[in-house]
Amino acid sequence: MGASCVLCETPGVLCIVTDLGKRHRINCSSPRCGNYVITDNAMGRLSTGGPQKSVLIEMVRRANKHSKVLEIFVAGDGLLQAYELPRD
Ligand SMILES: [Zn+2]
Repeated sequence: MGASCVLCETPGVLCIVTDLGKRHRINCSSPRCGNYVITDNAMGRLSTGGPQKSVLIEMVRRANKHSKVLEIFVAGDGLLQAYELPRD
């Protein structure tokens, strides 16, 4: 598929859509980035500014390093948040 990484814009990433299109599981091939899950809402938030993508990329890489996957989502207070999920 022709998707690009939401965080580092590397083209040709593998993107699996789950939960009726609400979550996207991204496998980015860039060595500076990695595997993460991002919700639709969080994608929208990133496209309108929000936190530094470089910070999120750093968190993705750190999570992957100890066999976790970063999930990026919009919390109840409307802020973008991320936490580490066990890799499944
Ligand atoms: Zn990436």
